[in-house]
Amino acid sequence: MSINIAIDGPAGAGKSTIAKKLAEELGYIYVDTGAMYRAMALYVLEHDINLEDEAAVAAACPDINIRIAFEDGTQCVYLNGENVNGRIRTEQISGMASKVSAQSAVRAHLLELQRSLARSADVIMDGRDIGTHVLPDAQVKIFLTASVKVRAERRYKEYLEKGQPAVLEEIEKEIRERDERDMNREIAPLKQAEDAVLVDTSSMDISQVVACIRQIIIEKTEQL
Ligand code: C5P
Repeated sequence: MSINIAIDGPAGAGKSTIAKKLAEELGYIYVDTGAMYRAMALYVLEHDINLEDEAAVAAACPDINIRIAFEDGTQCVYLNGENVNGRIRTEQISGMASKVSAQSAVRAHLLELQRSLARSADVIMDGRDIGTHVLPDAQVKIFLTASVKVRAERRYKEYLEKGQPAVLEEIEKEIRERDERDMNREIAPLKQAEDAVLVDTSSMDISQVVACIRQIIIEKTEQL
């Protein structure tokens, strides 16, 4: 049986940075489910489908093939055969992904892909509903969070480091709106699973968070 580690939490809590580091260190495959929703959003954008029109988005789902490959240890998201990794990390796609992900047809479209990846290998999977919905039997569940201010500052720095223009106040507003949508949607909302360990990273740096979660994983998996 494969070992599954679920890391959920709001945007900018550090899930992907931490999950990537720990996966490499502990020999797991890192699965970023947000990238799958981002690829769905990219398809909707490029095909001029009205995001608010749930029936139109649902009708498009059978035409959207999302595939995940791991190349040099990096997750690559293929949208209908094309690697879209370089095109899904924009503010526009972040906002759109959060909107399409509230729709049941979109979630259903990605669920089996996520579960099959977890069945086939030891994974650290990050997202919003992994511990509560996608992998309810995951052996380790972490809920990673941080204050809105801290999360916005982290995103702001990331954009600047990539040479992308960014306005801190706008990022903070966008994060608040995304939190609101992710936590209040009807299907698979963002929430801490009852058996998840809560880690608030507001006043921790990356190495401290990695150490803390590594310890939790070791303790939990030693008991298996
Ligand atoms: O994690 P990331 O910011 O890349 O996710 C983009 C959006 O995809 C999130 O705001 C959320 O609405 C959605 N998402 C989701 N369920 C997941 C992962 C991401 O609804 N498991």
